[in-house]
Amino acid sequence: MAHFIDPGRCIDCRICALVCPVEAVFSNYDLPPEWERFERVNVEFFRK
Ligand code: SF4
Repeated sequence: MAHFIDPGRCIDCRICALVCPVEAVFSNYDLPPEWERFERVNVEFFRK
């Protein structure tokens, strides 16, 4: 299952990153290089 975060609504409080049990959520500032392409995927999801 995919999860997306609306970049127009997220205030980057990082609570979701802190509570995610599988460490699948990152702030833009902490995004590991191997996951960078998913930032664009997330943005494109909300452009539709
Ligand atoms: S960082 Fe996570 S919990 Fe905070 S506003 Fe953005 S999506 Fe919501």
